Amino acid sequence: MKKGIDRIGRFDKRPLAHDAFPSDLEQTMTDLHDTLLTLDSHIDIPWPDRQDAWAEETSRQVNVPKTRKGGLRAVCLAAYIPQGPRDDDGHAEGWFRVQAMLNVISGLEGGQGVRVCRTAADVRAAYEADDLAVIPAIENGHALGGQPERITELARKYGVRYMTLTHNGHNALADAAIPRKDLEDSETLHEGLSDLGREAIAKMNRSGVLVDVSHAAKSTMMQATEVSTTPVFASHSCARALCDHPRNLDDEQLDRLKETGGLIQVTAMGSFLKKGGGGTVEDLVRHVSYIADRIGVEHVGISSDFDGGGGIPGWKDATETANVTRALQAAGFSDKDIAAIWGGNMLRLLETAEKAATQA
Ligand SMILES: [Zn+2]
Repeated sequence: MKKGIDRIGRFDKRPLAHDAFPSDLEQTMTDLHDTLLTLDSHIDIPWPDRQDAWAEETSRQVNVPKTRKGGLRAVCLAAYIPQGPRDDDGHAEGWFRVQAMLNVISGLEGGQGVRVCRTAADVRAAYEADDLAVIPAIENGHALGGQPERITELARKYGVRYMTLTHNGHNALADAAIPRKDLEDSETLHEGLSDLGREAIAKMNRSGVLVDVSHAAKSTMMQATEVSTTPVFASHSCARALCDHPRNLDDEQLDRLKETGGLIQVTAMGSFLKKGGGGTVEDLVRHVSYIADRIGVEHVGISSDFDGGGGIPGWKDATETANVTRALQAAGFSDKDIAAIWGGNMLRLLETAEKAATQA
C-alpha cells in the first residue's frame, strides 16, 4: 500500500460482456495483467483543463483513479493542437496552446501517485514505486509555429518524448494523410516533408523526441524513415490491410517499420479497426496479430486514443484495460510477447532515442 491508495479492487473481476472466458482462466489472466508494465502510447487530455485528474467522478476516459482501477501503468499524454491556418496568427495560436497544455501535463508531477517521466528509466522507476508514469507528447507539428528549433525548448522544459508531424490537414512541416478541405488543402502540399519538416526531424533526433507518423501521409511517413536517424513510430494507427482507412498503415509501410526498427501502436478506434466502424477489443487484437505475423512482435504495441475519440466495446476506458490483456492471451500470445506489446517495445524505442540524443 503506497500513499494511501487502495490497490485492492483495482481490477474489474466481472466476466467480459460476451462471457468469453471461464472464471479460473480469467483469474490467471488477471494475475498476469497485474504484473505488466502496461503503457498506452496515445491519450488526449480535456481542453480547457477541468482539474479532474484525480476526480472519482469524471466523464473523461483516463484519469489517475481510472488507471489504477484498470491496471494501466504508463500513459503518453498528448498536447493536441488542432490544425489551423498556416499563417502568422495560426502559428502563434498553436505555439501558445501547446505550452499551455504541456504546463497542465507537467503540473501532474508531484500529485498523489503520479510521476512525469523524461526517460524509459523514469518510467520503470515509476512502475517500481507503484506510481502512474506520465510521458508528455505533442500531437501536431503545427505546435511549433513553423519554427523547428522550438522542439528543443519543449523537450528540455517539459520532457516531451514524441511529436506527430501532422494532425488532419497539411502543416508547415509535412503532408497529412487526411487533407482539410475547409483549410483549402489540396491532395498534397509538400509531396511529403517540407524543408522545415526535415529540419524539425533533425532537431527531434537531437532532443530525443520520437518522430510520430500517425496522421502523416504515406509520402511523409516513407520520407521520415529515411531522414530520421532514430526509428519512427506510429503512436495510434492500425493495419490498412485489415481496414482500408487513410489513417492506417499499409503493408509497405509496415515493412518499412520492420526494416528501420520502428513501431506501430494499434489503437482503439472502431473506424480504424473495422470498415464502417464498430471494431471491438477482439478486432484490436486481430490487428496486433496481423502486424506481429507480418513484421514481428517487437514492432507492435497498443494505444487507446482515449479522450480523443478512442474507445471500443471491451475497452471503453482505462478501467477496462485488463480486457486487452485477456484478449491478447486468448489470441495465443505468450506472457513475454504480451509484456513486449504492452510496453517493452515502446520503452526500447524511447531508450534508442535517448542514446541517439546524447551522442548527437
Ligand atoms: Zn490523433
